[in-house]
Amino acid sequence: MKTIYRACKKCRLLVDAKNCPIHPEEKTTTEWFGFIFVESPEESIIAKNSGLLTKGRYAIKVR
Ligand SMILES: [Zn+2]
Repeated sequence: MKTIYRACKKCRLLVDAKNCPIHPEEKTTTEWFGFIFVESPEESIIAKNSGLLTKGRYAIKVR
């Protein structure tokens, strides 16, 4: 079975849990589009522009 990723509405991190590990109070959603994989946030311009500080998968758009 395919893993359905969910995105945090606050930081857009993609997880397979119902709550974000960084923002436990924030519910994740399946309503997201596209994703980027951030390997080294300090070297990635996209990550910097998007305010992504942690390595991981992020949704580009979250509803
Ligand atoms: Zn979050």
